[in-house]
Parts: sequence; C-alpha cells; structure tokens
Amino acid sequence: MSLLVTGTIGIDTVETAHEKAESVLGGSAAYFAFAARLLAPVRLVGAVGDDFPPAFRDALSHPSIDTSGLETRAGSKTFRWHGKYLEDMNQRESISTDLNIVAEAPPPIPAAFRDSAFVFLANTHPALQGGFIDQLDSPGFVVCDTMDLWINEFRDDLVNTLSRVNGVVLNDSEARMLTGEGDLFRAAKAVLDLGPTMTVIKKGEHGAMLVTRDELFILPAFPTSSVVDPTGAGDSFAGGMMGRLAATNRTDTAAVRSAIAWGTCAASLTIEAFSVNAIRAADRDALAQRLAHFRKCLAFD
Ligand code: AMP
Repeated sequence: MSLLVTGTIGIDTVETAHEKAESVLGGSAAYFAFAARLLAPVRLVGAVGDDFPPAFRDALSHPSIDTSGLETRAGSKTFRWHGKYLEDMNQRESISTDLNIVAEAPPPIPAAFRDSAFVFLANTHPALQGGFIDQLDSPGFVVCDTMDLWINEFRDDLVNTLSRVNGVVLNDSEARMLTGEGDLFRAAKAVLDLGPTMTVIKKGEHGAMLVTRDELFILPAFPTSSVVDPTGAGDSFAGGMMGRLAATNRTDTAAVRSAIAWGTCAASLTIEAFSVNAIRAADRDALAQRLAHFRKCLAFD
C-alpha cells in the first residue's frame, strides 16, 4: 500500500567523541525514506531552500523513493541541525537548530499523493504536521514523531496534531517531558489520552516499547558493536516500522509488533556510518538477515 513521509530534509553537522561530519545530508524524512524503501515504495514530501546541494538531491533519488513532492523554494534556506554526542552515545545535545524553511508554509502534497494509505509525519514543526493532515484526501493510518524542541516551544500545536493521528513514535525522555510522568509506562498511557491509539516509545540502546489501551510489547535493541553515528536511528526505526506495515497492509497490534522488530533492525543499519550512508547502501537482504539473527537472539522457551 502507498506510504507517504514528510518531515525535515536538511543539512547536518554531527560530532561524536572521536569524529565530526560537517554539512552532510540529514533530516528526519531523509532517514525515514531510506529505511522504509527497503520494504515498500515511499512518497517523499518536503521542502529545501536554494542552498540545498545538488549532490544531496542526487543522493535522494532512488527507484523506490518518489521525490516528486520535494520542493525547492527560491529565496528560502534549508533546515540545518548541528548535534553533538557525548562519550555515552545515548546522550546528545543540539548545538544549533536553524529552522529556516521549516518556519515557513508546508510544501504542498502533490495531488497524486493525497490518497496515501500510510502516512508518517516525521519530526518537524507540529503546525506543519497539522497542515499536512489537512491536505490528505482521506487520511489512512497516520503516525507522527516529535521531539523536545516542539514539546517545549510549540506544545499547543503538538497537542492539536496528536489529537488527529492514529499513532505516535517518540523517545523515552520526550514521552516524560510531554506528559510529566516519570514512569515510562504511565507516560505512554498518558500520551494515549491525547488522542493516538498506539504509543511507540524508543529507548535508544534499550530498545522500544508499544503501548495501547489493552496491550504492552517490549523489544530490546538489535545488538551491534559498531556504532559510528546514532543520528537518524529514530527516523530509520520509524521507516522500517511503517515500511513493514505498508508492505503488509496491516495496522493491527500483532502487525505493529512485527513492524517494530523490522524498524529496530533498520535503525541498527543506520548507526554504522555517518549521515544516511549506511542505510542508503543497505539492501533488503541485509535487513532480512538482521531480522533473522534478531529473532534467534530473542527466542526462549
Ligand atoms: P534522530 O536521530 O532520529 O532524532 O534524527 C536526527 C535527524 O533529525 C537529523 O538528521 C536532523 O537533521 C533532524 N532534526 C534534528 N532536530 C530536528 C527538529 N527539531 N525537527 C525535525 N528534524 C530535526
């Protein structure tokens, strides 16, 4: 089934304790698209400024990614983010976030994309996320992501967006920040009170958790020892998850559990290189092999 993603497409500078990647391709929608396309074709909607390097545009073109919804806005500047990881790669600080085009009007969703059955609103301004929902013909299964900046500074817009989606994916500290609940399970339940029927909480190296009104599912992270740059892990997780749901055309809890496992494996590919390099180079076999290994690691009587 058709899968649409919108979010940031940006220029990142990323520092780890040992290395630095300057002005590389990033953005929530870019990572999502490269992960999701391993499982289902993706319709990408986003906007960049006229400073967006042609080489990045070329990098985004892929047979399974439809970039006809990628707008280049004359006179605007591309979203830029500079992040730094501490020695403990689970800890990151945003050194700067230049919203630029993200503070402007949302890019139009092409008419041919408005019937998308699966929609992911990757991290971007929650008012833009709402603006995207407005443009859909009959929203199918809509899931959104968010992060600290939006929770802290645009809470009303975010609460409005959350009231209009089927599911939300966010990390543990964000769930606590959004709800004021210290306990993660209670926080996930409190997110459900805002509208979505499923909350998926990403816990970095500790895996992920799915909470609905009636069910709880927990999964560890894929064991990997080659973490180069964790940037985009969350977006790739969401890409693998939504790609699997779109490929199987299911949204029931059993399907979401399985999709979370696919997303977990996709995230593990992304973090093995800077920028989108590792997930972009991966193929479906590499992802499927990880899933098979993951399944073995999880089996017990
Ligand atoms: P993740 O590591 O999954 O949280 O995603 C990192 C990506 O999100 C980077 O490529 C950034 O360009 C992008 N990003 C960082 N901050 C934001 C923000 N406030 N809204 C949207 N995208 C962001």
